[in-house]
Amino acid sequence: MSGADGAADLLVVGAPVYTADPARRWAGAVAVRDGRVAAVGAERDVAALRGPATRVLRLRGGLVLPGFHDAHVHPSIGGLELLACDLHEVEPAGYPAAVARYAADHPGAPWVEGGGWVMDAFPGGAPHRAALDAVVGDRPVFLASTDGHSAWVNSRALAVAGVTAATPDPPRGRIERDAAGEPTGALHEEAMNLVGDLVPDPGPAQREAGIELGQAHLHRLGVTAWQDALVSPETLAAYRAVAERGALTGRVVAAVKWEVADGDAQLATLPELTRTHTVGRLRATAVKHFQDGVFENRTAAMLDPYLDGDGAPTGNRGIGMLPPDELARVVTALDRAGFDVHVHAIGDRAVREALDAFQAAADANGRRDSRHQIAHLQFVHPDDRPRFRRLGVVANAQPFWACLDGYMRKLTLPFLDPERAGWQYPWASLRRAGAVLAFGSDWTVSTANPLLELEVAVNRVAPGDRGGEPFLPEERLDLPAALDAFTIGSAYALRLEADTGSIEPGKLADLAVLDRDPFDPAAGPIGDARVLATLIEGEPIHADPDLDLAG
Ligand SMILES: [Zn+2]
Repeated sequence: MSGADGAADLLVVGAPVYTADPARRWAGAVAVRDGRVAAVGAERDVAALRGPATRVLRLRGGLVLPGFHDAHVHPSIGGLELLACDLHEVEPAGYPAAVARYAADHPGAPWVEGGGWVMDAFPGGAPHRAALDAVVGDRPVFLASTDGHSAWVNSRALAVAGVTAATPDPPRGRIERDAAGEPTGALHEEAMNLVGDLVPDPGPAQREAGIELGQAHLHRLGVTAWQDALVSPETLAAYRAVAERGALTGRVVAAVKWEVADGDAQLATLPELTRTHTVGRLRATAVKHFQDGVFENRTAAMLDPYLDGDGAPTGNRGIGMLPPDELARVVTALDRAGFDVHVHAIGDRAVREALDAFQAAADANGRRDSRHQIAHLQFVHPDDRPRFRRLGVVANAQPFWACLDGYMRKLTLPFLDPERAGWQYPWASLRRAGAVLAFGSDWTVSTANPLLELEVAVNRVAPGDRGGEPFLPEERLDLPAALDAFTIGSAYALRLEADTGSIEPGKLADLAVLDRDPFDPAAGPIGDARVLATLIEGEPIHADPDLDLAG
């Protein structure tokens, strides 16, 4: 409690403060009262707010910054995956053994379910059912790829689902097959559901446990707010249950999935669904639509065809999930209903179709204070880059992908001409063109650690390959621009910028404390920094045991 004398509840001193406030980027200390920033400035000025009951967090260097805001992340799925057969931290050669171990540890589970495998470990990006059959024959296995766009299943799962050589590819999906037409055990996009729909539902208790696990994971990494970028009605109910019992400590925007197959009926149900699930720190104000797939399995919607491995054009331009006029109609209706529309777009055609749809919405409804956004933005045609600012569309970027990793070297560059190869993840170009840049991890697709993400944004080199060649180095961001994208930029995408995202008097004291100052050239790689503490409204939600919070 704060005293009537205006004394602070908490002072944070002893480390530089990066505020993300363009009016005063740097300070020496922060004072907190009633959960809000009471003062930020030089340490001697801020220290004047110390009263007899004021706690002092005295740091020995490091950096204080606004809590990270992850603009595109899947903690509800991530938490469930932590509870399931989790392959994220497993080397590809160890996948079968990890699956066998999980199956042995869960003898009563009717399915072996989980995910986290990487496509670039397999020829053509497609793993084979035989490797799973060798370790689990008695039950079906369903394992999502780390990007969530493909599934690896065993023969038992195909049999249970009745998927055979005679099964046609479903709309917007593809069954991987051998020369004889037999399914080989990899299912892409909508084809995943042929088996995935049969996987037993985790149930409300498991979903809530998953959300709390995912949340704890993000808090340990300094994340105080996020957009859950794919929420089903069941997940939304679980979020509400967690929020209602006061256990939702992060600030969450839930992006409810637009189900293409369910069509316009959703326009009638979404307003009530989202209104009843906006409680505490949970706001269901966004709708998520996938306009395409991913490049690596040839489902990203491209303006020009994919090349074959020898540089010749194929007949394939990927999959646009909704025809452009249909997309424009849906986006216009959602805009009119007051939703922020969050479109997944990887290919340059999907990005253009999304921008065209936002243009159509603005033409029909007038410009309102929307936070429409396009996520991923792997290929952005140069002509489309200025449209983000003109239309007020947030560029929701995943910085970790902008490097020469296995996905880029093996599954992307060989199927592109040099011109389009150079259009990838154009963060600096978009920023120069005036776009609001928001950063998101897309965990569990990639790491949730914002410091590793920032390292790639700044260097365009994978942290696992630190001596390596930068990928399109002209698209590097400087550290302040990258930090701003992960704090105030993402806060804008989440409609939180009046309350969080920067350290300014009157804003909520959501803060992250690092063990070193990445602006200091002697501090080493950004991704090696650690989060010592995460504070929400001035209260530590995560703290290193060595940290002196007693003051
Ligand atoms: Zn995502």
